Amino acid sequence: MTTTEAATEVAQAEAPGWRFFDTVVTGSRRLGPSTVRLTLGAPELAGFGVAGDDQRIKFVLPRQPGSDVMELLVPGDEWYAAYCALPDEVRPFLRTYTVRAARPDRAEIDVDVVLHGVDGGHAGPAATWAAAAVPGDRLVVLGPDRPGSGRMWGVEWAPPATAHTLLLAADETAVPAVGAILEGLAPGRRVVALLEVPETGDEQALDVPAGVTVHWLPRSGRARGELLVPAVHAALCELGIASPGRTGEVVEDAGPDDIDLLWEVPDVDATAGCYAWLAGEAGVVKQLRRHLVTDLGVPRNEVAFMGYWRVGVAA
Ligand SMILES: Cc1cc2nc3c(=O)[nH]c(=O)nc-3n(C[C@H](O)[C@H](O)[C@H](O)COP(=O)(O)OP(=O)(O)OC[C@H]3O[C@@H](n4cnc5c(N)ncnc54)[C@H](O)[C@@H]3O)c2cc1C
Repeated sequence: MTTTEAATEVAQAEAPGWRFFDTVVTGSRRLGPSTVRLTLGAPELAGFGVAGDDQRIKFVLPRQPGSDVMELLVPGDEWYAAYCALPDEVRPFLRTYTVRAARPDRAEIDVDVVLHGVDGGHAGPAATWAAAAVPGDRLVVLGPDRPGSGRMWGVEWAPPATAHTLLLAADETAVPAVGAILEGLAPGRRVVALLEVPETGDEQALDVPAGVTVHWLPRSGRARGELLVPAVHAALCELGIASPGRTGEVVEDAGPDDIDLLWEVPDVDATAGCYAWLAGEAGVVKQLRRHLVTDLGVPRNEVAFMGYWRVGVAA
C-alpha cells in the first residue's frame, strides 16, 4: 500500500458517521425580528455527535410540503449519491444550518434560523418552513452521529493554541456559530466579535467569558457590509492583526462565479498569535478577503473566510 493509499484509508476510518435524524419541533421562540430559535427533539439525538463551536448540519426539506422525505433517503455512506440520483421533482431541498446548542441528556438541539424574505421578499424553503414551524412539526436533519472535532465533522473553527488574539466577524446567518464558539471559549484570550444584524432588536445576550467583547452592528436599512467592513478594518488594526499602509499578496479571483467557492479555511498554523474567522454573505466576505489580504497584508493562514450564502442564489 502506498503512503497516499494508507493516508486515505486512515482518513476514511476517521470520517464521522453522518446520519439522518427524524426530529420533531418541540419549541419555537422568536429571538428578535429576524430570527427564530427552533428546538428539535428525537430519541436518537441523545447520541448526536455534536462537537460544539460552528458545528454544521443540513435540514432536509420536502419538495412537496408534508411529504415524507425519510422514504426517499438512503442511510450510510452512499446517501449523497442516492440523493443526487433522485428525480428533480422529488429530490428534497438541503440547507445548511448551525447547531446553536445541544442537550444530549434531553435528546434535543437548538437551531437559530434567519427568517429572510418571509414578509414578501425572496424567502427560500428553509426560511419559509421555519417561519411557520410549530411544536409537533417534523424535520429531517443530517448530522454527525458520534463525537468528534475538526473539519470532517463539519466544524471549521480551529484557532491555533498559540493564538492569544481572536477576531470573529459575521452577519446574522453566522451569529449562531459565533454565539456557540464564544460561549465555549476558555477565558484568557483577547477576543472581539463584530456581528452585523438586520435590526436593533436582533441583538442577543451572549454568555461569554471574561476578555470577550461583542459589538452588535444593526444595519437598520443600510447596505450589507456597510457597517461590518469598516468595523473589521478598525478591529484588525486595533488588535495588531493588520497595520494600515502595509500591503500584501494580491488576491486574484478566477471570475464572477468564483464567489460561489468562497470558502478558505487555513490549516492550523501552530505558531500564529492571531486568528480571524469571518462568515456571512459571500459578496461581503469576498470584499473582506480582498481588503484584508491585499490592502492590509494580513497573512491568509491567519484568517478563515466563509461565504454562508449569496444574494440572489438559492443554496
Ligand atoms: C456552514 C453554514 C452554516 C449556516 N448556519 C446558519 C444558521 O445557523 N442560521 C441561518 O439562518 N442560516 C445559516 N446559514 C445560511 C443558510 O444556509 C442560507 O441562508 C440558506 O440559503 C437559507 O435557505 P433558504 O431555503 O431559506 O433560502 P434559499 O432557497 O437558499 O435562497 C432563496 C433566496 O433567499 C436569499 N437568501 C438566503 N439566505 C438569506 C439571508 N439570510 N438573508 C437574505 N436573503 C437570503 C438567497 O440569496 C436567494 O435569493 C448557514 C450556511 C452555512 C454554509
